[in-house]
Amino acid sequence: MTQRLVLASNNAGKLKEFGEMLAPIGFEIHPQGEFNVPEAEEPHLTFVENALAKARHAARITGLPALADDSGVCANALGGAPGVISARYAGEPKSDARNNEKLVADLTSHDDKSAYYYCVLVFVRHADDPRPVIAEGRWDGEIIAAPRGQGGFGYDPYFWLPAQGKTVAELSADEKNRLSHRGQALRALVEKLR
Ligand code: IMP
Repeated sequence: MTQRLVLASNNAGKLKEFGEMLAPIGFEIHPQGEFNVPEAEEPHLTFVENALAKARHAARITGLPALADDSGVCANALGGAPGVISARYAGEPKSDARNNEKLVADLTSHDDKSAYYYCVLVFVRHADDPRPVIAEGRWDGEIIAAPRGQGGFGYDPYFWLPAQGKTVAELSADEKNRLSHRGQALRALVEKLR
């Protein structure tokens, strides 16, 4: 039997990626826009709290189980910034170019350029579920001063992977899915839901 699931996002890329991984274990995934769910507030200081808020919000409005994700980049020398404000690190309107410029500038005075991408996925069976299923992924690298590569999005051209000798923007989409924080979190979630 197939179980309908609402995704607390309208991002077409996530819908496809999550849908492909969750279909084999019996979930049919629908974006929250299909149910006219407005975007939830994300006021919290941690990724997991924001993802939980988004999942509960979508489940409450639709009456369906819900899945939400939250992700970002964290620089160790900056105490984990940009963190939960990664999308808007340089303020509104959101701009990848200005976010990257600010991150590089903020790290100029630090020797430690290490950073990691982080992703958390939260699944709730219903809005008030006391035991959400939570999975996470972490991908370590370094922030470099000049961009390399054309792929990916966001911070990818500045996110250097020493083991690959490439930035994330220089990986193929398949390589990125295999290694990324989001790929790791998704595979961990599938294992937990199975
Ligand atoms: P969201 O959780 O998908 O909204 O992502 C939050 C923000 O984190 C994005 O807007 C990007 O700035 C950053 N981010 C998250 N994942 C990635 C990634 O895989 N590559 C580049 N930037 C990312």
